[in-house]
Amino acid sequence: MSEVELPDNWESPQRILVILAHPDDPEFFCGGTIARWTLAGHDVSYCLLTCGDKGTEDRSLTPDALCTLRQGEQMAAAAVLDVHRVQFMDYPDGYLVPDMKLRRDITRVIRQLQPDVLVTCDPTNLYVRETYLNHPDHRAAGQATLDAVFPAARDHLNFVELWRDENLEPHIVREVWISLPKEANVRIDVTELWERKLQALYEHKSQIGDPAKLEERLRSRHTSDSTLENPRYEEFFKRLVLG
Ligand SMILES: [Zn+2]
Repeated sequence: MSEVELPDNWESPQRILVILAHPDDPEFFCGGTIARWTLAGHDVSYCLLTCGDKGTEDRSLTPDALCTLRQGEQMAAAAVLDVHRVQFMDYPDGYLVPDMKLRRDITRVIRQLQPDVLVTCDPTNLYVRETYLNHPDHRAAGQATLDAVFPAARDHLNFVELWRDENLEPHIVREVWISLPKEANVRIDVTELWERKLQALYEHKSQIGDPAKLEERLRSRHTSDSTLENPRYEEFFKRLVLG
């Protein structure tokens, strides 16, 4: 991995938009980095494309009830990381495809919020390590978001109705940070924020099972050059500088 020295050492407060598939994705994928950014004074917003309405083994829960539950959990988790603007698109969980409707909806959000930096996930990442098949919604979210960043958000004749009828000016995203990357080129030390990440994840009560097991799992993810007693934690991204 080629190292970039302090890649988020921006000179001024940045507007950062995180677009991912499910409630809990921001905290699991990059919660430490999000906490680091809000602490540094950057303005972070979330846009979640689905409301996670399939993520349960509880047979008494309807999709609508689960959706409401998970949106509440997401708001609470975001607040722990000092993120106070969260938008849900309510596409059905599990069925997300990177079609033109989704691309246009994401383009609209990018033009409305005009982020300097956009965070999404990697559409090319089929599996993570040797134990985890990446969720198809994650890949679809990453694909549709990257396609919205370029060229749809940038060029006014793409989805011309957004410009013509909704007065949404084209927008150039300067940097894209791809979480859960197949190949990272940036790693962010989030040791100081690992506890905040854990606290945020605890808010996803319907998803995490036994909190003690989650804590054990998360604490074991220290870097290979550190120990549980003196741990260091990192989050990884593929960073693209476009503008
Ligand atoms: Zn997810």
